[in-house]
Amino acid sequence: MQITFWGVRGSYPVPGAATVRYGGQTSCVEARTESGETIIVDAGTGMRQLGNKLAREAAGAPGQYHVLLSHVHWDHIQGLPFFSPAYIPGTKISVYALLTAADELNQVIGGITRHEFFPMPLEAVPANFNFIQVEPGVDFVIGRFHVTPIALNHPFGSVGYRIDADGSSWAYVADTAPFDKVLHKQHFLSGPEPLSPDDVSALTSMRDALLQRLKGVDTVVYDTHFLPEEYARFPHYGHSTPDQALVICKEAGVRRLVLYHHAPSHTDDQMDKIAADYLAKGAALGIEVLTSFEGMTLPIGPEAK
Ligand SMILES: [Zn+2]
Ligand SMILES: [Zn+2]
Repeated sequence: MQITFWGVRGSYPVPGAATVRYGGQTSCVEARTESGETIIVDAGTGMRQLGNKLAREAAGAPGQYHVLLSHVHWDHIQGLPFFSPAYIPGTKISVYALLTAADELNQVIGGITRHEFFPMPLEAVPANFNFIQVEPGVDFVIGRFHVTPIALNHPFGSVGYRIDADGSSWAYVADTAPFDKVLHKQHFLSGPEPLSPDDVSALTSMRDALLQRLKGVDTVVYDTHFLPEEYARFPHYGHSTPDQALVICKEAGVRRLVLYHHAPSHTDDQMDKIAADYLAKGAALGIEVLTSFEGMTLPIGPEAK
């Protein structure tokens, strides 16, 4: 299996001279098996270019696509209406996400193409959409991919995914805050509230389940939006630092960590420094740390036994 990064930013797209090398598009990763089956993880603005590539590969023929959403914040869904295979009649698109009801997901995704926001309503898009609700801890299979959703700590909820195929495995852990200071029950109105004993136990179970799911995984793509000094100012925003990701990866015995969901404010020069600093920090812990950029393709190594 291999993965390719089509969008590596969090929050909003930041094209421009300061982000040319790491890229300005928001969250979207493609996983591909040796036999050429693909799944798409998150549908941020990076999905547009991926869609163009997939449409070229299909040479105009309708395909079947699977899109796993971590959650439905804008930076994870905004590419969906611009996914060109959706405009090829006969195309099937299955969208997997964490929501309380599948029809609600239909409404959320349909909502982004309401006439006020987009010229074509979802019902008029030629592709057939199928909405599938995922539940943390309940595995499912898509072709050769085995997928395990993992609960994460993010405003209004988010799921990560462990994805196994071809005897290799990787995990997508975005968006998430760490599991100590804030429990994101829904969304924040007034900032972080003190943790109750129930909150502490909910966070501990979430962390334990994540560690268990990451065991044996070769590569973990992790929401490392903040530097530590930024996180200290915004612990309630629902994102992590590379240091927090390293602690999780070390405990889970992960071989390689990929920094992802970069803050839109981080320029290429800042990203170079982050990449170098955390490559060294990771090496000291025996973890290879790579910093994702748009267009990066990584072969996924075998599962650790
Ligand atoms: Zn995000
Ligand atoms: Zn988010």
